[in-house]
Amino acid sequence: MKLQLNRFFKKTDVAPDLKEIAVKGNTSAVSQTADKAKDIEETVTVCPKCKQEFNKAEVKQNLNVCMACGYHYVISAERRVKSIVDAGSFRPLKCKVAFANPLDYPEYEEKISALQKKTGLEEAVYTGVGKIDGYEAVIAVMSSKFLMGSMGMAVGEKITNAIEYADKKKLPLIIFTASGGARMQEGILSLMQMAKTSAAVERFNQNGGLYISVLTHPTTGGVSASFATLGDITLAEPDALIGFAGPRVIEQTIGQKLPEGFQRSEFQQEHGFVDQIVPRDKMRETLAHILRLHCKRGK
Ligand SMILES: [Zn+2]
Repeated sequence: MKLQLNRFFKKTDVAPDLKEIAVKGNTSAVSQTADKAKDIEETVTVCPKCKQEFNKAEVKQNLNVCMACGYHYVISAERRVKSIVDAGSFRPLKCKVAFANPLDYPEYEEKISALQKKTGLEEAVYTGVGKIDGYEAVIAVMSSKFLMGSMGMAVGEKITNAIEYADKKKLPLIIFTASGGARMQEGILSLMQMAKTSAAVERFNQNGGLYISVLTHPTTGGVSASFATLGDITLAEPDALIGFAGPRVIEQTIGQKLPEGFQRSEFQQEHGFVDQIVPRDKMRETLAHILRLHCKRGK
């Protein structure tokens, strides 16, 4: 049988960010001047779910969630952290990982440098320590804007470092996942990060640490098959894609039509993989509530 590699490396469906949506929503702008079109692009967004138009600044103000239907747009790692921690309490963890290109993958280094400049992130995960309603916690946030949040050696190391730091300081651990899976540019070495991060979670677990995993759109591949699904408590944002292989690959493999809503947060909750679905505006109070039940304040 011939392997169809294009299927394996198919890009995962990502929630578009506000800029992309504005461009798509502007298809009838043939007769408009370039300036007018640009104005609309800068100020208006069309929700991909309910198709209503909104002022982009208002959606941004609403934590990138549609005011009408609750559609969750992508949010940057930095804004996500800000939306859950006590103001001024967050400090990033120092964990510098040198760039490596073990397979000499063409243009990999250039791609990483360009993304570092564009996103302001070192890699596809952002880690630090912050307080949520007075409770200190180690927080890691993955970004789907950085090579689809794919996990290579640097992401594996930063996640492991965050887990080990939480273990050492006896702090709870919260990881927001968003990933297309293992990073193909690093081949087998990226798959090894699944074992590395899972082992770190297990050590943390044996030492009595509390790990809250928050699955956001999309959490798939090697990340869903390792640390993302090893939490003591698993939360998810509404309508997030959560699974291992994409629905199309599964349909082609098993030759069957998949049920409605397959692999979405609500489906995963019904089937016992997710404990609670938490909209973005309720995330801080939900995390604070869990920490209050399990931890001492200031710890
Ligand atoms: Zn909407």
